[in-house]
Amino acid sequence: MKPKISVLTTGGTIAGAAARSEMITGYRAGVLGADTLFAACPALSDVAAIDSAEVAAIDSKDMTEAIWLRLAAQIEEAFASGAAGIVITHGTDTLEETAYFLHLTMKTDKPIVLTGAMRPATALSADGPLNLLDAVRLAASPEAHGQGVLAVLNGEIHSARDIQKVHTTAVQAFASPDVGALGRMEQGAPRFRRRVLTRHTARSEFRFESAAALPYVPILYGHAGADSRLAAAAVEGGAAGIVYAGTGDGSIHEAVRKPLLSAAEKGVVVVRASRTGAGAVLSDESGCPEAYFIEADTLPPAKARILLALALSETKERAKIRRMFHEY
Ligand code: ASP
Repeated sequence: MKPKISVLTTGGTIAGAAARSEMITGYRAGVLGADTLFAACPALSDVAAIDSAEVAAIDSKDMTEAIWLRLAAQIEEAFASGAAGIVITHGTDTLEETAYFLHLTMKTDKPIVLTGAMRPATALSADGPLNLLDAVRLAASPEAHGQGVLAVLNGEIHSARDIQKVHTTAVQAFASPDVGALGRMEQGAPRFRRRVLTRHTARSEFRFESAAALPYVPILYGHAGADSRLAAAAVEGGAAGIVYAGTGDGSIHEAVRKPLLSAAEKGVVVVRASRTGAGAVLSDESGCPEAYFIEADTLPPAKARILLALALSETKERAKIRRMFHEY
């Protein structure tokens, strides 16, 4: 019997349509329904018994925590009604954020696989149909169990922990900087070549229900010529936490360090990430005041923001949050 796979659609370029087939920009994302996506890929029904539900129909630049909440609830419902795995079609702009949120909050060992496309469904050489087929193959495979939330695009399988969009327009738009992909789709099947070592899904302490009221956690971007105004505005705006996308290895401009230190003294939890796109932010060895700040390890700023917001939903204790950044 074929495994039952639930495809949850959220929009994106994979469901995008342009006026002409040679147009690969200037299209509208998220306008086509699941049936149109399935019709472009008849081999799907050879792999799995598929059902589908529309969770959203948006350009993923507009992703919200309310949609994450609906998506997570829908995933739970699909598993409860017998799905062996879940596929989520998603815009590529924030695919890594939704993937990491689910990686931290879904209490399951069953496969949850995100995919998208860089070219609209109407384009010549559209990449969506093969990405969708690969996602269903992956979600239906025993090898995907216990690996946390996965993403498959352009034949590469990535962990939600590490994947980042690294190109604005290329079909090969995703990478896991430093650590590389988990594996590839080869001859129609997943071939894993490494595993994720950080905590996730069934072994995570976070709950998706927290998305109903996540604390305000903005990201500040480090740059030459910075001043204190945005940091002050973040604190005045009620930030419970701040992620600083620092220069280099998460270093903080002197003009911003002071307001961030006084924010930390008032209980705002400040996490140092890096704007470079790769590499770990490590503890500052010069000691003292920097001990107020928590290092994001290899999490890019947007993912550090999600972990910090979920962490703050559970605790305000800096030592506990530091431990979470170490483990997840
Ligand atoms: N802006 C689109 C989205 O994220 C891009 C894409 O899907 O490739 O929905």
